[in-house]
Amino acid sequence: MIDLHSHTDESDGTSTPAELIAEAKRVGLSALAITDHDTMRGYELAVPFAKEAKLELICGIELSTRLGGSSVHLLGYFPCQAPQGDFRDWLRFLLESRRDRNRRLIDRLRSLGVDITLEEVEKRGRSLTGRPHFARVLVEKGYASDIQHAFDEFLDESAKGYVQRHEVPIEEAIQRLVDAGGVASLAHPVRVAKNDWTKLTQYVGRMAEMGMKAIEVYHSDHSPENVAFYLSLAEKCGLTPTGGSDFHGGNKPNIQLGTGQRGNLRVPDSILSALKKTAGCC
Ligand code: AMP
Ligand code: ZN
Ligand code: FE
Ligand code: FE
Repeated sequence: MIDLHSHTDESDGTSTPAELIAEAKRVGLSALAITDHDTMRGYELAVPFAKEAKLELICGIELSTRLGGSSVHLLGYFPCQAPQGDFRDWLRFLLESRRDRNRRLIDRLRSLGVDITLEEVEKRGRSLTGRPHFARVLVEKGYASDIQHAFDEFLDESAKGYVQRHEVPIEEAIQRLVDAGGVASLAHPVRVAKNDWTKLTQYVGRMAEMGMKAIEVYHSDHSPENVAFYLSLAEKCGLTPTGGSDFHGGNKPNIQLGTGQRGNLRVPDSILSALKKTAGCC
């Protein structure tokens, strides 16, 4: 059993890289991909722990991209070799544009009379500070009753405090992954096109033309019907099926590493062999 979708506390998970490796061994995984949002630091920190534990560790990433006016998550896998040079510079640029959005978000909230500083939110989110960290501060300071209220009132796209963040066009993200020697996989397709299967089929066809080579067929949020449909879509478009739990530790406590929600997931080792073939490393 493997898990190709997981987050550490270097992005929005709660487990340290060392804790995540220990958990992977505990649940009996033979391979794990760390796919933090916009950063490979969690993977890098996990490498020595994985070696020690004799666990196969795959370098991955999750990127938020734009497709036809909506946000689509893309997974990138580097099973042969972690990316170097240009790709790393590009990730630094993404982090800097997130920081720029955060500064503008602080200005906006302050103009609405909210007493909040960048230092306060960055203390919680560190290099990957995002809206969930803003939400926590708003709750702690009494501006919202809970996280959801903070989003509804201030941070959601439709709320008064919202400011836009630069999101990469999906063509560019796919091209960057391909240029860096990676395989691009459409993350949790259940969240794409509001689950309109006709629209999803068109989107996936376009992404395949752009160079995307895989699709996340197996995921904690996928029903057996979803899995069957995405498998047929993978076959139709010549894409390699991937799968993983999307483990976030205590931030999504109903999701278990490897086995998903109430045991609805089990990704076989053969998925990794196929992914390696697609990446060209065997
Ligand atoms: P960011 O990347 O900083 O813009 O934050 C995006 C994250 O905020 C998402 O991954 C969700 O976890 C969270 N989020 C976005 N919109 C909402 C919402 N309306 N309600 C609750 N959480 C949200
Ligand atoms: Zn996440
Ligand atoms: Fe995602
Ligand atoms: Fe994820």
